[in-house]
Amino acid sequence: MGEGRRCCEEGCLARTREGKPYCPDHVHLNAYVAELLGQIAANLEEVRARKALANGHVAREISAVLRDGSGAASLPRLARRLEVDRDLVRRTLHAMKAEKLVTLSLTDRGKLIAKERRR
Ligand SMILES: [Zn+2]
Repeated sequence: MGEGRRCCEEGCLARTREGKPYCPDHVHLNAYVAELLGQIAANLEEVRARKALANGHVAREISAVLRDGSGAASLPRLARRLEVDRDLVRRTLHAMKAEKLVTLSLTDRGKLIAKERRR
């Protein structure tokens, strides 16, 4: 046996005990990093879940605006009515189109118009 292995922490020259990957100075650091990474992953999951929920919420509001109005509305008008940014409305409209909830068209001036699809 003789010398133990070197610590896996980059730049650390310490030998580890009992064949462990990290020296005593770096083992906590490593556990801390692992814990942080775990927290980040959990937070990302939460962000994704919230985003999906928010998108569902925006989609319902868009449907409500279209239903209450003439059945059609432009993207800027929807963004103003919902008080959310246009990119979110645009993404939501495309998702709604994929679900066959709305049809989308462009005006001559390039404005996106959403129409409710009645079933
Ligand atoms: Zn070390």
